[in-house]
Amino acid sequence: MSSGHHHDPHPLRPTTKVLTEGYDPRLSVGSARPAVFRSSTYVFPSPEAAERSFDIATGRAQVAAGESTNLIYARFNHPNAQILEEQILNLEPGAHAALAFNSGMAAIMTSLLALLRPGQSVVYTVPIYGGTQHFIQDYLSKWGVTGIPVLSGRGDLLAGAIHSTKDLGAVLLETPANPTLVMTDIRQACKAAAARKLSPGEARPPVLVDNTLLGPTFQHPLSLGADLVVYSGTKYLSGFSDMLAGIVLAADPELIRKIRPARGLFGNILQPDECWMLGGRLPTVHLRMNRASKNAQRIAERLAQHPKLKRVLYPTLFTDPEQKRIFAEQCDFPGAMFSIELLGGKKAAFDFLRNLHIARNAVSLGGVETLACHPKTTTHSGFTEQESATAGITDGLVRVSIGIEHWRDLLEEFEQSLAAV
Ligand SMILES: *Cc1c(COP(=O)(O)O)cnc(C)c1O
Repeated sequence: MSSGHHHDPHPLRPTTKVLTEGYDPRLSVGSARPAVFRSSTYVFPSPEAAERSFDIATGRAQVAAGESTNLIYARFNHPNAQILEEQILNLEPGAHAALAFNSGMAAIMTSLLALLRPGQSVVYTVPIYGGTQHFIQDYLSKWGVTGIPVLSGRGDLLAGAIHSTKDLGAVLLETPANPTLVMTDIRQACKAAAARKLSPGEARPPVLVDNTLLGPTFQHPLSLGADLVVYSGTKYLSGFSDMLAGIVLAADPELIRKIRPARGLFGNILQPDECWMLGGRLPTVHLRMNRASKNAQRIAERLAQHPKLKRVLYPTLFTDPEQKRIFAEQCDFPGAMFSIELLGGKKAAFDFLRNLHIARNAVSLGGVETLACHPKTTTHSGFTEQESATAGITDGLVRVSIGIEHWRDLLEEFEQSLAAV
């Protein structure tokens, strides 16, 4: 679907490309913006074309140079998924292929199942998204895959685990960690994966980065050496808390070719209407994320010295030199998530949430509206006491996802709510 006619020596920037490349109006009766194709099945021009399409779809044949292939059936592929996947490449530096899924969890699950074999291990950072942790610890374990958690911010332990784990099938990083914002050095982890001594027949483990919290605007894992980027498109990519979606992007299309058949089999491709909705939101991702990040920085820095707070967790307030270094080298801006730890523990945290009106007490993040939640009893309630303590998820911790409201209104509300605690 790519119009691909830019051979300019100065490549266009993502915000321009996302509006001009990856969608060809000629394939949609001239429609200036993408149309929706809801068909579940596609008509073949001839029985031979049908035979050829199935040979290609099942991997018995490869697409020849310049050959255009037929669509078959919407569980495998459909025009709106193709358009969305071409458009989103423009936002992710270094990406050459993408897949759209019907949730972030579907993207993570399908990628891991396609890449891992029984007997292998996956090294991953903690804290990680609750669903991801549940999937690795409680499902993959049943299929003979061992999960090896490594505490975020401990680059030494991460490199050690990547180096010493036998039959390592994949490395999964989530950075910054949620809800503590602790950062992992992506480049360092990729170097460790590349430096692994491989036994005969063993392949270098791919490094996957869940980039939901800072990407695609503020953090570019593929440029730092990662193999795959995964997103919950439910969050900043769609941005209005009104749909579920997941995206996987790769520098090497071969990796996407490995994952695609699993998506066709599981039936978790993003549906046409949702692809169309998400595609329409992509041109404003940078606008929304930049506004929300500026808001969050102003609010977090003003709350930093508040007498009722033990600490504010936010990248510009890092004190650890290693964390400051990673933030400076790896991220363009600090993003729109911060956590505050109230001095009065769980009661104070609950009272704070009860007093909010502009900000809503809800899980999820990345929407234009501000949301706040108590991780210990909601998003991270599956953690053991030990896991919570190690990860710094305390009773007084409240996580905030800042939206695009006026920051002064939000700051005033947070200050009033804190005063009433
Ligand atoms: C929400 C989220 C997910 C899961 O995405 P869904 O779209 O809810 O399936 C994965 N990782 C991170 C970091 C998330 O915030």
